[in-house]
Amino acid sequence: MLDLKSDYHVHCNYNDHSPTELSIEKVTKYAEEINLNKLAFTEHVRKTSEWIPKYLEEIDRIVSSGTKITIISGFEAKILKNGTVDIPHEYEGHFLIASFHTKFYNKQNWLSALKSTISLPYVNVIGHLAPEESFELTDNELGELSKLLNENGKTVEINAKYRRPAMNWLRIFRDNNVKFHLGSDAHSLVEVGNFSSITNLIEFINS
Ligand SMILES: [Zn+2]
Ligand SMILES: [Zn+2]
Repeated sequence: MLDLKSDYHVHCNYNDHSPTELSIEKVTKYAEEINLNKLAFTEHVRKTSEWIPKYLEEIDRIVSSGTKITIISGFEAKILKNGTVDIPHEYEGHFLIASFHTKFYNKQNWLSALKSTISLPYVNVIGHLAPEESFELTDNELGELSKLLNENGKTVEINAKYRRPAMNWLRIFRDNNVKFHLGSDAHSLVEVGNFSSITNLIEFINS
């Protein structure tokens, strides 16, 4: 069953395009108001990001101030062409969503980067997984991916912003017992914990 009270993908004001109202404190307060049980801050990170220590300190401060929500400090990082992810090595132990944020324009390169990312021990989740417009995966390829995800203990995120993965992918993942959780991918306060855009996908998994 998908836990509607846990949001594993939330951005805050450390990223380059979120509003300043999205402070770690305000997001936490809002999440308490709407009775979430679990909240993962997963700010966009790059190897060159310099704000990380301040970000982690701020999350620590909120956690130690005694909130009733379980707060996870994490990141979302881009899957790179070589099949690694764009995060500085010293932060690899944190909760990590790996997502495609750039186009590969080539199915085989895309697939091989994805497989290599799935095999990285420090990646926890594959975010908003979907093919590019120019290609689709076969059922066999999705079956193979499911196997690889399971062997490596990875979770597939069901993402409310992009409404992904698509139903046909979810069906194959579900039939292969792939693990799922929910991520709002909130870039504003009202999106935190809001999964109303993916009610059909949630019902499909929970049925
Ligand atoms: Zn993303
Ligand atoms: Zn995101």
